[in-house]
Amino acid sequence: MAGEQIQLGVVRRLPPTPQTPPDRRTECSVVRCGDTGGPGLPVFLSWDGLRRLCEHVCSDAEVELGGVLVGDQCQDEQGNPFVIMTGSLAAQDYTNSAGSFTFTHNTWSRFTRELESLSGNRRIIGWYHSHPGWGVFLSDRDQFICENFFAGALDIAVVVDPQSNQLGVFQRICCGKSDWLQPAAGCCVFVEGVASAEMTARGLPTPLRYFVGPVGANFAAPSRSGRQD
Ligand SMILES: [Zn+2]
Repeated sequence: MAGEQIQLGVVRRLPPTPQTPPDRRTECSVVRCGDTGGPGLPVFLSWDGLRRLCEHVCSDAEVELGGVLVGDQCQDEQGNPFVIMTGSLAAQDYTNSAGSFTFTHNTWSRFTRELESLSGNRRIIGWYHSHPGWGVFLSDRDQFICENFFAGALDIAVVVDPQSNQLGVFQRICCGKSDWLQPAAGCCVFVEGVASAEMTARGLPTPLRYFVGPVGANFAAPSRSGRQD
């Protein structure tokens, strides 16, 4: 693992924002993907934000592409945490190949500037990257990035395989075995206003499908693929 080559800034820790989840807001339409009834952290992904993320990672399905997820980390009226992803910032300056993705210092500086230019409560809530043709998982190197730079309890990761068209969400689930991120059994996609027919029918923007992980993955030790990307 070439950890010394990974240069990221430190994500500022802010307390959760008091907010009503999208599935309890009358102005929002929500479609559930996978199993959202479990004990995991509720994750709400904006349909428009997902579509832009999908366009980015599918713009070159041969190499790894990535960036950071933007949104808010919240708690509801009862103090229950949840996460909202409203958009993403694509890494414009990065080193990648068919088997690796690395943020650079310049990329991180640009994220900071772009985030400051956005209105509203926006913060970096995690990161995303693609695994062209390798499936949805977090490699040892991916877990290294998560643990060192996105280590907040509510930080998430999204992995997309643009060749098999699968998208997975990873979150910290307390299982007493590991603090590594595990595949979330489900997530909610939301839009302000009325859901389109595509959103209602598919849940995720075409051609993506939700990757729920192997049965019991939420409470199993992380799988070791042997890959170091
Ligand atoms: Zn990876």
